[in-house]
Amino acid sequence: MSLPLPEGQGQGVNEPLPYYLETGNHEGVIFEHAYRKRLPVMLKGPTGCGKTRFVEAMAARLGRPLVTVSCHDDTSATDLIGRYLVRGADTVWQDGPVTRAARQGAILYLDEVAEAREDVIVVLHSLSDHRRQLFVDRHDETLVAHSAFQLVASFNPGYQRGFKELKPSTRQRFVFLSFNYPPSDIETEIVAHESGVDVKIAKRLVSLAVKIRALEDTGAVDTVSTRSLVAAGMLISEGLEARSAFKAAVIEPLSDESTLSAALGDLVDLTL
Ligand code: ADP
Repeated sequence: MSLPLPEGQGQGVNEPLPYYLETGNHEGVIFEHAYRKRLPVMLKGPTGCGKTRFVEAMAARLGRPLVTVSCHDDTSATDLIGRYLVRGADTVWQDGPVTRAARQGAILYLDEVAEAREDVIVVLHSLSDHRRQLFVDRHDETLVAHSAFQLVASFNPGYQRGFKELKPSTRQRFVFLSFNYPPSDIETEIVAHESGVDVKIAKRLVSLAVKIRALEDTGAVDTVSTRSLVAAGMLISEGLEARSAFKAAVIEPLSDESTLSAALGDLVDLTL
């Protein structure tokens, strides 16, 4: 099911949409409904499972520019809102990415928002409720967001970050979409498409990933992402032998513990 686009919006005739394969959770339709009411959306899920690609595809489908900010623990409100810069003898105001997105009616994607400093979260509150306002205090401006503006953020609930989680007062401002690694048949199609390996090889890569993800539930290893599988596929399509490719792109990034890497390496040798 798909909704008609907002009037006057839509992708340019010759612009291809970013490749995004739906994972069976109606994420596209839910997002479009949220967009129509400009409800902020939170994408929850592990790293490398398709959240960023999804936002890119939705922004293109809705015909909106996308402004992406990767948050980290030094990201401050000033970084996002803007600052005065000295240019010769003058000081000039420069909008940060959040202010720019709110002015131009973009979709603003704050990747890993829980990583940002607390002052960032506070700034987002007035932007994410009915006020849709941004207080640009250093510039002495209260900016009401453009009617097409929408706030999207992501966070990875599995990522250990002490007790700094998203607070209920923040969570409640968002419609949540849960992401996980796609079902095997869909992930196989994605890996084949993105890396250029044939479907038979992609299927073997995915089935090995599924085995390792089962170990992850025991807490023994970190997660195998779709992104790593695509990277392994790319190495293979460039002519690297499958086992070496899988070890380099998938196994090694998982852990620095040599016994664990060796054990997983044995599994790769037995399976691929
Ligand atoms: P995240 O933002 O969750 O960390 P990304 O969106 O960057 O992950 O996904 C990593 C890569 O996995 C993408 O670049 C793309 O190649 C692939 N991918 C994952 N899920 C999908 C999907 N549903 N459709 C198309 N590509 C996908």
